Amino acid sequence: MKVKISDKVIAAYSTRQDGNMSLCYGDTSKALSERKKFLADLGIDYSKLVGAQQTHSKNVAYVTEADLGKGALLYDSAIADTDAFITDKPGIPLAVFTADCLSVFLYDPVKNAIAMVHAGWRGTQKGIASAALDCMRNRFKTNPADLIAYFGPCIRSCCFEVEADFKKYFPNKVIERDKRLFLDIPAVNAEQLTHAGVKPGDISDCGFCTVSQNDRFFSFRKEADKAGRLISVIMLR
Ligand SMILES: [Zn+2]
Repeated sequence: MKVKISDKVIAAYSTRQDGNMSLCYGDTSKALSERKKFLADLGIDYSKLVGAQQTHSKNVAYVTEADLGKGALLYDSAIADTDAFITDKPGIPLAVFTADCLSVFLYDPVKNAIAMVHAGWRGTQKGIASAALDCMRNRFKTNPADLIAYFGPCIRSCCFEVEADFKKYFPNKVIERDKRLFLDIPAVNAEQLTHAGVKPGDISDCGFCTVSQNDRFFSFRKEADKAGRLISVIMLR
């Protein structure tokens, strides 16, 4: 699904129908050919993709031409222990892989810089989206008030039942329904971004739940170790 952020940016996320995009989770036998096809339709060379060995950290990498192809063909070549990328260089496709975790696309139209963020609940708790924004401020002098943000598919408060201890981690965003607790991950990320100065009206959300719409998206909660991964990708033209 293409994400309309700007004419200067190519951005998209895949669905189940596009196949498993992961080189290490789910059935990986066709992952490279599925990636090649999905990315070719966007005008992206799959062999240039930049991916990470995601660890639910708050680590952000600044990516340049020297990183092209890291994680593109071999998982072992992906950038280690990283959950967000930023760049101001054109032609560098930044990718994260998810099955319930939130993907956050960021674009600064003034400095012409982008970020791609992998935000599960652990990364969200650590503040990975605001960490990526901080890196954009430090390196590109991004003004958060200029930033455009977009949220991809993830598990949402309709389905993400959590234990009581989550109230400690996310005091405002754990919702009680029928004596059960649910976490709203996009809402926490939106709060982190707006707290940093992003305008609420500049945050868009695809709205899809990976569990409710499991026929269209992979979900770790629903499929456990069998779950493949969706790709979220952004590139400056
Ligand atoms: Zn749901």
